Amino acid sequence: MPFSSLGLSPSLLRAVGAKAYLTPTPIQLAAIPAALQGRDVLGSAQTGSGKTVAFALPLLQQLENAPLESLRRVRALILVPTRELCTQVGEEIRSLAAHLPRSLKVSIVFGGVSINPQMMRLRGGTDIVVATPGRLLDLVHHNALVLGSVTTLVLDEADRLFDMGFSEELGRILSLLPEKRQNLFFSATFPPAVQALAQTLLRDPVRIEVLPTPQTQPAIAQRAIAVDASRRTQLLRHLIQQNHWSRVLVFVATKHAAEMVADKLRKARIYAEPFHGELSQGKRTQVLADFKASRLKVVIATDVAARGLDIAQLPVVVNFDLPRSAVDYTHRIGRTGRAGESGVALSFVSADTEAHFRLIEKRQGLNLPLEQMEGFEPLQTAVPAAMSTDGIPFDASTGGIKGKRPSKKDKLRAAAARGQ
Ligand code: AMP
Repeated sequence: MPFSSLGLSPSLLRAVGAKAYLTPTPIQLAAIPAALQGRDVLGSAQTGSGKTVAFALPLLQQLENAPLESLRRVRALILVPTRELCTQVGEEIRSLAAHLPRSLKVSIVFGGVSINPQMMRLRGGTDIVVATPGRLLDLVHHNALVLGSVTTLVLDEADRLFDMGFSEELGRILSLLPEKRQNLFFSATFPPAVQALAQTLLRDPVRIEVLPTPQTQPAIAQRAIAVDASRRTQLLRHLIQQNHWSRVLVFVATKHAAEMVADKLRKARIYAEPFHGELSQGKRTQVLADFKASRLKVVIATDVAARGLDIAQLPVVVNFDLPRSAVDYTHRIGRTGRAGESGVALSFVSADTEAHFRLIEKRQGLNLPLEQMEGFEPLQTAVPAAMSTDGIPFDASTGGIKGKRPSKKDKLRAAAARGQ
């Protein structure tokens, strides 16, 4: 079904055509007609499903048809969890609004940068605000923004807003909005807090669940490579050089690791930059811009980059450190294989993380063989196989005794292994 059958205005269809979007994605097919009718929407969709366009087009059409006197009063408010997502969503809306007969002002506001330029830009009013919650409240307190005219509220990545501790800010923002408004609510997962918010916020919503199907599931080849923890940087270097990867996003667990791995790669003359929450906003923007423009080949990031970031043609994602959960795994690997392209997601698995990897695998319904790379075959073996001589399970990661005391069965097995 083409975009033209969804009830969109000619100027929005022109914008969609200019972006070369040929057919609506499943979430767009379901959400656009419902939202155009003014219904609340509760969308559960995987990352990369096209949800920005799904909420942006209907809200732009409503603003296109709104009375002239409402111009430059905030009518659409989009809340997002991270600064990067804020910019990405704001820019997508700007380009979709490019052909509207009446020009709409889209303001992008987020924390971590000086508030004054944002206040200056808000002078004279604005039509659409894309914001992270904390900075939005700061601007309201400085009287730079009034939210009493909002007719559409979008919560994008609601689960992540909670994960990042924005629940109190969300409550305060909601209390500033008019009761009568349309709510478009999107989340990848629905933990209890998110469900509770959806229940209080939404009125008779159209529920849309886009399960990953062969059409929506990007072609991501997932692979697991066994390697000793101490040799991961060497392996990464080898893979980058051997495969001539043009662009690779590498996930690590901590800011310190991001700095350290990037540093080691640079010493090996591979241009790499760290990306984490403690960098200045200017630096984060710069790293992303360089990465997107191919001036930078390798980014070593914490999970701050795992959600929402849309980097076209990112062929490879590497889990240098494994993610904490299966949900984080989905978000990380979703950075590749965007918009129908294919991608590769590699996970480094060492003796001390194999059990954790198997758990992620199980939750994902995967069964990946642990591959070995020539020259990087691991010397350490996985924890369950290791047994100290007295039959107590031995934790290879710490060199210590693992968990419980040995059971009778453990002792018998150990004795059998020693040939007693
Ligand atoms: P999102 O889920 O909003 O982050 O979108 C993921 C990517 O899909 C973005 O790069 C969009 O530009 C792209 N996209 C959104 N809608 C379409 C469409 N109908 N056809 C092709 N690409 C699209």
